[in-house]
Amino acid sequence: MPDSVSISTDMPVMPIGETYPEIREAVAKLCEGFPSEYWHELDQRRGYPTEFVKALTDAGFLGVLIPEEYGGSGLPLSAGAAILEEIHKNGCSGAACHAQMYTMGTVLRHGSDDQKRMYLPKIASGELRLQAFGVTEPTSGTDTLSLRTTAVRDGDEYVVNGQKVWTSRAEHSDLMLLLARTTAKEKVAKRTDGLSVFLVDMREAKGNGLEIKPIKTMINHNTTEIFFDNLRIPASSLIGEEGKGFRYILDGMNAERVLVASEALGDCQWFAQKASEYSREREVFGRPIGSNQGIQFPIADAYAQFMGAKLVIQKAAALFEAGLPCGAEANAGKYLAAEAVWKAADTCFQTFGGFAFAEEYGIERKFREARIHRTAPISQNLVLSFIGEHVLGMPRSY
Ligand SMILES: Cc1cc2nc3c(=O)[nH]c(=O)nc-3n(C[C@H](O)[C@H](O)[C@H](O)COP(=O)(O)OP(=O)(O)OC[C@H]3O[C@@H](n4cnc5c(N)ncnc54)[C@H](O)[C@@H]3O)c2cc1C
Repeated sequence: MPDSVSISTDMPVMPIGETYPEIREAVAKLCEGFPSEYWHELDQRRGYPTEFVKALTDAGFLGVLIPEEYGGSGLPLSAGAAILEEIHKNGCSGAACHAQMYTMGTVLRHGSDDQKRMYLPKIASGELRLQAFGVTEPTSGTDTLSLRTTAVRDGDEYVVNGQKVWTSRAEHSDLMLLLARTTAKEKVAKRTDGLSVFLVDMREAKGNGLEIKPIKTMINHNTTEIFFDNLRIPASSLIGEEGKGFRYILDGMNAERVLVASEALGDCQWFAQKASEYSREREVFGRPIGSNQGIQFPIADAYAQFMGAKLVIQKAAALFEAGLPCGAEANAGKYLAAEAVWKAADTCFQTFGGFAFAEEYGIERKFREARIHRTAPISQNLVLSFIGEHVLGMPRSY
């Protein structure tokens, strides 16, 4: 044992209590204005929660990660995570607007001063929405490096051709962060080269080479297919250097995992609270169903899983904020949160018995929504393969 242990003050500090209690309280208060009926009505007609997104924007919550010099609050990642967790804990959904928090990071880290000055203040004020993130394609799926959408330089413009799928919120966004191939796969030195990121102004592009088609899904996610047919965009739409786009997107992935997993953590608490409340009130065989351990233990089990997932996510956020590697924690946290929320959703569903199926209780809607965490933004298998290969050093599967 060494005689003395020096403790670096640069070490990330894990929070003991809840992070950002005042922000959490304010978000919870805002959410009171958007009860289950609001979300149910939108779910029925596949509507976009315009009023909710506006309320979040007006309160400054969607701009928390934007630096103060560009009109945001300049808070760290865990503030964004706290906001999204609280939204979901209070029965609302951040899916309509969460992309702004992580797509904006790419512009912030890799955009030019002009791009930042032009877009970030308007994104912070809500004048412009940057909610669309065009990565996934029908043929490449998870294999992002095989995407086929091309952007070919032609004078002061790029000409974009191809197709994206699952581009959420495209109909409700002004801007899209687009990943496209600028150099053919066969011509690049490294497999990760040759892709570039563009900030596409969809207001100008719609009807001029960009077509958006909604996809009907089991959750109200406003997701779409996007077709590019000789879409001309200014060369100034390129973010950073041509050919380095894949690395820019990877840079933002850990933050995205932390933010989206925080929504799952919020949902876990919502399900646990609903289930435990109902189990105390519902009496069958002359006693509350919650006194049966067959009902009580699965709820407690789901809650214990939530607590573990939350610690890992908090650690990932602390490492990220300290500028330290956090891939293992962000991926593991996302994995654990997605499993915990699925367990919590299924348990809550079971606790409500037949009434879980009735739309008015809101359980079936939240149950459907909870399933997304095991698939997007990255599927559980791909997270496990990251941990298997990059943390445990096992052979690659792809
Ligand atoms: C509602 C919704 C919203 C979305 N929003 C967006 C968005 O805004 N922008 C965007 O770009 N994308 C978005 N996505 C896409 C999402 O990120 C992908 O669906 C997800 O990454 C999986 O890709 P895929 O559907 O093509 O599955 P595939 O890649 O076809 O994979 C199918 C299955 O095979 C498994 N698999 C594949 N390869 C391997 C392997 N090597 N080892 C083990 N298992 C493997 C996968 O884990 C998965 O379970 C969204 C998806 C949905 C459903």
